[in-house]
Parts: sequence; structure tokens; C-alpha cells
Amino acid sequence: MAGFPLKGETTPTIFEKSVAGRRGTRMTRSDASPGPLSDLIPTRHLRGEPARLPEVPENEVVRHYTELSLKNHHVDRALYPLGSCTMKYNPKVNEATCRLPGFAGLHPFTPQASAQGALKLMFELAEMLKEVAGMDEVTLQPAAGAQGEMTGVLLMRAYHDAHGEGSTRRRILFPESAHGTNPATAAMAGFDAEEIPSDETGRVDLEALRENLDEAVAGLMLTNPNTLGVFESDIAEISRLVHEVGGLMYMDGANLNALMGVTRPGDMGYDVVHFNLHKTFSTPHGGGGPGAGPVAVKKHLAPYLPVPKVFRREDGSYGLDWDRPESVGKLHGFYGNFGVMVRAYTYMRMLGATGIRETAEAAVLNNAYLTALLKEDFDLPYGRGMHESVFSGSSLKKRTDIKTMDVAKRLLDYGFHAPTVYFPLNVPEALMTEPTETETKQELERYAAAMKAIAREAETDPELVATAPHTTPVRRLDEGRAARQLDLKWSFSGDAED
Ligand SMILES: *Cc1c(COP(=O)(O)O)cnc(C)c1O
Repeated sequence: MAGFPLKGETTPTIFEKSVAGRRGTRMTRSDASPGPLSDLIPTRHLRGEPARLPEVPENEVVRHYTELSLKNHHVDRALYPLGSCTMKYNPKVNEATCRLPGFAGLHPFTPQASAQGALKLMFELAEMLKEVAGMDEVTLQPAAGAQGEMTGVLLMRAYHDAHGEGSTRRRILFPESAHGTNPATAAMAGFDAEEIPSDETGRVDLEALRENLDEAVAGLMLTNPNTLGVFESDIAEISRLVHEVGGLMYMDGANLNALMGVTRPGDMGYDVVHFNLHKTFSTPHGGGGPGAGPVAVKKHLAPYLPVPKVFRREDGSYGLDWDRPESVGKLHGFYGNFGVMVRAYTYMRMLGATGIRETAEAAVLNNAYLTALLKEDFDLPYGRGMHESVFSGSSLKKRTDIKTMDVAKRLLDYGFHAPTVYFPLNVPEALMTEPTETETKQELERYAAAMKAIAREAETDPELVATAPHTTPVRRLDEGRAARQLDLKWSFSGDAED
């Protein structure tokens, strides 16, 4: 279909647009071209019938996907202020480098001698991450933040096992504001996950921590700045207390946007930290991946890192080390999500050490400005955060009955994605806002103007806000049902298999 859908019409899928015989390109057969496929591929591996692919001319393909891209909100369209999960702009140069044929076409079974460039990139990326983290060793293998956490917690378990305390150190502590993956990871790894309260500033309550510490504690999982955007200023004391009872310090470093190049988890006393390359180091994410969640550790946890590990030989060549007898094993096929590593490497090399620090400074400055613009219209229960601030729509709801979810939906009508909503759990009606480093002053002001306009509409025309969005391709969805009856597949009409 060209042009906008007519009334009552939905956008057809690319398969529904297919007409037999239509095609985008036509190759002339050269004399050098091989014979029938059956000459090349053993017949038992050939399909009986041709693959069902859509047959569509090139211009229709381009229009189809362009139209689909406009039905969705994405960071290439406008600000996407998702707190904690950082939707920063991903420079296009990252895409150019990760598509270089030498990287994109590399087979994971390529002999090491023929993959030196890729191994060198992985080695150097790990070196840079070590520097940012202030740690001694890095694995690039985990495919996501949650898997990085799993890796880190398994390393902690291996450490306690090796010290004869595997069966007694059963408890992993985390604060109220923690990302849900922290307790989930601890529980999956077989630990008792226990929440400790925060104080009125949103920080770990030191008294409560002290009361909870004993020889059964395997470790504390703590994000810093925490998920309220608040820096845990007692971090040195917290680390000391946890270490004093023999526990380990785990930092959820999914979002390092306030810290990188400024201060280092290793210097704060953490033993292990994971990164989300797809949040802090600019790889596109959302929709399920791919991502990368490398883990950095201090020396005492290094023997347990997953195999294989990239290393540099004395002669300057690179190799993969499988000979690590104390390793927790393998957590991902081959070596991790390599394309994500190329993007993160490009981003870090483009910025350099000074640029990385400036990125963090700009992220914090942008948030300070945006918070100043918004704090009159929305509550700020824990004050301004560093790279993100957690607002609350509680007063607005009391006054107008308009909920945070309504505000989030109405933002779409103004062309903005919502911030993270209803997280962290210790802030009612939470709007967790992270503008990121690349947004201009003008764009921040446009976003603030939209938020202020919605706060006014909530007073003057609550119905308009409560029924938003009005301008999007689909109206408000039943999110509960979408989560419970997930159905993402499209099948050929008349096709019985689903
Ligand atoms: C996003 C996030 C995670 C989980 O990362 P995934 O890559 O989605 O698994 C963990 N902790 C924090 C603080 C996060 O923001």
C-alpha cells in the first residue's frame, strides 16, 4: 500500500503485499554461475518446496518498512527519557563499523590466527572497561544485564565455595530501590534474597544494614547512583561493613552514565560489577536485544570467570584461553554478542578518556536542567538525582484523578516517549526520567513544556488525558492482557499451524 491506510484499513503485512513473480532485483545468469543447487548441497538437506518468502518490488519494501518505523516511537524520532534503562542516541558510526565485512562476516569457528582483529578488539574493549570500572579482569560473554548479574553472582558463589563457605553463606541483600533483576538473580542462583530498607534520603539505611549483616551474608547488590538517581555517599563505609563479615560487594552497573570517567566502582570497594553496553555504551536496545552485559571483577574473583577468555601473548598476538580450571564455565554460545562489542568499542574510542568523562558530566547537567524545569509541576520525593530523577505523580493524582500511566500515554500525543513509570517501587506513581547526554537545551525545554501542558490538561480536561493517546496508530492497549496472552506471531491466513 502506498500512502496512508484508508479508514478501516490496517497496514498489511509484507506477506499480504506479496504477489507471485514480483521481485526487487533480477540477476542475470552468468556463465560462471554454478549449476542447480542440488549439485552443491546434498539432496537430503534440500527443502522439497521453495521457502515462503514475500515477493515484493524494492520500492514497496522500502515504503513498507519506512511506514512501520513511523508507527513506533524510537530514539531516532525524539527524546526517549527512560530512566535506568537509558535510551541514549546511538551514533551511526557504530553501525558502520559493526557492519564492516571483516567483522560482520566473521564465522565463530574462524581459526584464531585468522581472527586476530576481532580478538584484539575484544581484548582492548575489556581493557577499557577495566579502566572505567577500576577492576582487574573482565569477561565480555554475558548477553544482557540480567545475565551479567547471574554471572557475577555465580562468581560470588564460586568464591565462597572455594573458601569452604558455600553452604553457609546463603543470604544476598539488596536495597528497596533495587532493579527487579537483582533479587530475581540472587534467587535463581539459589540464595535467599533479602531486602533492606532505605532511609528518608533514598540511600541504604546504615543502621538497618548493620543489623542485617552476619556470617551468612554472601554479598550486597547495590546500584550506585542507586535507582533513585541518588549517589550512595556512604559507599566506602557500606563496603567496609560488608567485607568485615566476609561478604562481597556487587555493583549493578547497568547504567554508568553518571559515573564513567568520573569515579570507579573498584575504588568504592566493589568486588564485582556488570555493565550494560546497550545502555551506557550506545548500542540500540529494546524489543529483547541483542545486548551485552560484561562483568568486571577484582583479582580474587578472576579465577572463576567464564571460559574462554581473550588474552594477549608476549609476541603481541591474541588467543582464547580455555584452560581455567576454576571457571564457572560458559554462559553464552561462542564469545558473546560480538556486534554489540564493536559498537561499544567504537563509541569509547570516538570519545576517548576525556570524552567519556564529559559524557557523564553532560548527562548529569542535562538532568539537573530538566529537573529544575519540572519540579514545580511534579513531586520530587527524593530530590534531584544525578543522571536521572524520580518524579512522582502522587499530588497530581490526588488533585485530578489523573494517574502516571495517563501522563505517560498523553506524552505520546506530544511526540515523546514516556519516562520509566511505576519504578522504582518505593516511589508511588513514579516517573523516572533520564534525558541522557546528547539532548539539546531546546529539546529538554520542549519536553518540559509537554509535561507542563499535560499537568494543566489534567486540571482543565482530565477526560482528554485519561483517554490518551489520541494521535497514535493504535489507542490505549490492554497491557495486562498483552502481557498475559502474548501473541507476537503472524501466520499465513488459512494456515492451521500457529
Ligand atoms: C536494565 C537494567 C538491568 C537489566 O539489564 P537487561 O540488559 O535488561 O537484562 C539491571 N539493572 C538495572 C539497574 C537496569 O537498569
